[in-house]
Amino acid sequence: MTGCIARSDIFQHRLMEEPPPASATRRTRERYEQLVREAKALCASCPLFTDCLYSAVAEHDVSGFVAGTTAAQRRSMRNLLDVEVQADDFDQLAGARGTRRPVSHEEVLRLRGQYPSDSLESLAMRLGCSLSTVKRHLRRARRGQSPATKTPRPRPEVNAVLDAFETVVDVQPCQPRRGGSRVA
Ligand code: SF4
Repeated sequence: MTGCIARSDIFQHRLMEEPPPASATRRTRERYEQLVREAKALCASCPLFTDCLYSAVAEHDVSGFVAGTTAAQRRSMRNLLDVEVQADDFDQLAGARGTRRPVSHEEVLRLRGQYPSDSLESLAMRLGCSLSTVKRHLRRARRGQSPATKTPRPRPEVNAVLDAFETVVDVQPCQPRRGGSRVA
């Protein structure tokens, strides 16, 4: 069992969906930093780390904290690597986030239309996905994008992704280094 499944209380914590804004209370920011430290330690010892990181950066645009990275850090890594992944219709990745289920763009829009006065949190609960997934689909709808409008660029090498990780993420001695191999 991976750390993100064993400790879903950390990885699925609402603060891990989106980092608190600068205006958040000191207590909230400290709680978030503590959750990130604990999640990082679990990812650092995870046998799926390399595979999970590669998938989260180069294959699937998932939300939340995955493979020692925040969503913002993964975006920075993609910029460095000059790769673009389509926002994914799946909210599951490797062993991570196993309580979620696939959700389609059309399903999100349909439920939004069906329950216009629902909060986004309620929609996420109805869909069984994360809040940020709902937001991402609604943003995409506002921009007039559909999941099939973009052509994915070539995928980077695994070592390039690991290089980007070391560049973007403040790698501590306890964090994983290269040498792991992809599982799939
Ligand atoms: S998010 Fe990925 S690297 Fe972290 S514990 Fe889960 S499977 Fe392992």
